[in-house]
Amino acid sequence: STQPHVTFNDGHAIPQIGLGVWKATDETAATAVAAALGAGYRHIDTAAIYENESGVGTGMAQADVARADIFLTTKLWNEAQGFDSTLRAMDESLKRLGTDYVDLYLIHWPSAFRGKFVDTWKAMIRLREEGKARSIGVSNFEGDYIDQLIAETGVTPAINQIQLHPLFQQAAMREKNAKLGVITESWSPLGQGKLLDHPGLAAIAARHGKSVAQVIIRWHIELGLVVIPKSVTPSRIVENFAVFDFALSDQDKAQIAALDSADGRIGSDPLTATF
Ligand code: NAD
Repeated sequence: STQPHVTFNDGHAIPQIGLGVWKATDETAATAVAAALGAGYRHIDTAAIYENESGVGTGMAQADVARADIFLTTKLWNEAQGFDSTLRAMDESLKRLGTDYVDLYLIHWPSAFRGKFVDTWKAMIRLREEGKARSIGVSNFEGDYIDQLIAETGVTPAINQIQLHPLFQQAAMREKNAKLGVITESWSPLGQGKLLDHPGLAAIAARHGKSVAQVIIRWHIELGLVVIPKSVTPSRIVENFAVFDFALSDQDKAQIAALDSADGRIGSDPLTATF
C-alpha cells in the first residue's frame, strides 16, 4: 500500500501508522490484527508483556498479506534484561509470534535500577546480526539513556518509542532523538482516549469533517512521527487509518501546540520508574 514510511539510520523503513494492541487478549488481538491488515495497515506493535504475541501471530496468519509485507514490532520485557536472557526472550517471542524474525525489537523500558540496559543492548545487536531482528531500538529511553548506549557500543538505536500526544508533546526528546539520528515513535498517541472529547480538538475535527482521533493521528504524521493508535473495534481501526485525505492548517497546528503541558504525562516517568 502507498502509506508514508520513515527511514531508519540502518536503511530499513517503517510504515508511519501501526496498530497498537496493548491490553488486547490473544483473541481480540487476532481479530484486530486481521482487521487492520485487511484495512491496509502493514505495521503491528506488540510486546512480550502484553501476553498477546500468539494472538498477533494468529491474526497475521489469518490475513491475506504476506509476512514480508508486514512490519512487526515486539518488545523485550524488563525482567528479561541481560545478555543471555535477552537472546532467550527473543526466541520465545518469535515462537509465540509464529515467525522467524521481527522487523523491530525494542528494549521496552530502560529499567535503569537493574543496571542491565547496556548488556541488553549488546544482545539486541547480536540479534540483529543473526537476522532475528531486522532493526533494533528502544522505548522510554528519555533523559540521556540513549547516549549511554551509543557511548558503550557505538550502535545507535533505530527508534525511540516514547509517550507522546497533544497533552505531552515531548519537544525536547523529539529534538534530541533527531539530533542522534533516532526516529521518534508516539505511544499512547490518543492519550489513551482521554483526548477524544476535547472541545478544541472537536472544533478542529468539525472544520475538516473528520473525527478527533483522525485529527490527532494526522498531527503525529505531520510531525514525522511513527504513530501506533490502539483499537480492537474494526470500524475505529479503519477510521484511524483514514488520515491521508486532509491536512492540518497552521491555525489547527497552533491550537494543538497550545495543549502541551509539562504535567501531561500519563503514568510513570522512565527516569524514576521502579519496574
Ligand atoms: P491510545 O492513545 O492509542 O488510545 C487507545 C484508546 O483510544 C482505545 O482503547 C480506544 O478506547 C480509544 N480509541 C482508539 N481509536 C478510537 C477512535 N477512532 N474513536 C474513539 N476511540 C478510539 O492508547 P494506548 O493503547 O495506550 O497506546 C497505543 C499503543 O502504544 C499501545 O497499544 C501499545 O502498542 C503502545 N504503548 C507502548 C508503551 C511503551 O511503554 N512502549 C506504553 C503504552 C502503549
